[in-house]
Amino acid sequence: MSEKRDYYEVLGVSKGADEAEIKKAYRKLALKYHPDKNPDDASAEEKFKEAAEAYEVLSDSQKRAQYDRFGHAGMGGSGFGGGGMNMDDIFSQFGDIFGGAFGGGGSFGGSRGGGTMRTRGTNLRVKIKLNLEEIANGVRKKIKVNKLVNAEGVTYKTCSTCNGTGRLTRVTQTFLGAMQTQTTCTTCQGAGKMIDKKPADADPQGLKRQEDVIEIDIPAGVEEGMQLSVSGKGNAGPFDGIPGDLIVVIEETQHEELRRDGEHLHFDAYINFADAALGESVEVPTIAGKAKIKIEPGTQSGKTLRLKGKGLPVLQGYGHGDLFVHINVWTPKKLTKEEKEILEKLRTSENFKPSPDANEKGFFQRVKDMFH
Ligand SMILES: [Zn+2]
Repeated sequence: MSEKRDYYEVLGVSKGADEAEIKKAYRKLALKYHPDKNPDDASAEEKFKEAAEAYEVLSDSQKRAQYDRFGHAGMGGSGFGGGGMNMDDIFSQFGDIFGGAFGGGGSFGGSRGGGTMRTRGTNLRVKIKLNLEEIANGVRKKIKVNKLVNAEGVTYKTCSTCNGTGRLTRVTQTFLGAMQTQTTCTTCQGAGKMIDKKPADADPQGLKRQEDVIEIDIPAGVEEGMQLSVSGKGNAGPFDGIPGDLIVVIEETQHEELRRDGEHLHFDAYINFADAALGESVEVPTIAGKAKIKIEPGTQSGKTLRLKGKGLPVLQGYGHGDLFVHINVWTPKKLTKEEKEILEKLRTSENFKPSPDANEKGFFQRVKDMFH
């Protein structure tokens, strides 16, 4: 499959485009590539679907923010359920955009034009706990969910309330004449059909609850609070409708030693005074096991060493963050008589007199120096 195009590029709008611009751009493309205007043209259908998907994301402020931040990886595209939209999704979206002029009127698309719509199931939200190693490498997780599925053995018949149209029309007499108002049929929720026969375990909408195990691939680099959606894996839709989405909410378990800050990691290393003065090689934890770092002779407390590329992968897939090792020189709290004697001798030694250079002075000292 070819690389997914940028949604803004698909709609031909800038990143800063407002709601109205996005709607306008989509409307234009949808009319141009509409399947009824381009019968048997697979490439037009592809473009039609592509535009609908881009609009679906960019017209929703929450989805748009997620896309701006994480790109397609954040949308359930790469390795995350099928992504994409089917024709039912697209046409159900039309009501909002084209209103009566296009959506349900039947002027377009004979087979679809009846005015009924497939009811959509609700989204299913699950939380998933990941440790830092799983976040670093990406992971396949099996999660148990309790969801609504289509009950077996349910048969449907035309809805008797709306005669299968999915709508109820009410005519009211006003002083201007007869006025028609249309509402979605409450019996079938717009589906145009109702249950004919159902087994005992099916609810009045033809659904039942069932435990299900869903396997999902979590891409590397996700973060606490992020939501990933797997299209079509949510609750089944009433009256044989289309399923909702599965929304996976990421929770992160704290690592014992490493702190996370976006794609970067931080570690507080404690070394003793002798190692700081003489230099030494010390072990630090990384996501991929222990690593050795070299402490140069004369290393000051507060120094930060940067291990390039030892952080977490960036979600979009471009490189890794870094691991920052913060050096703390440990001052002993208890001393033997002998240790005290050695330190007493060193106390007055010329080399022990602090003489920090500009880089080593504390922040406030540097600020003070600027004003003198
Ligand atoms: Zn009905």
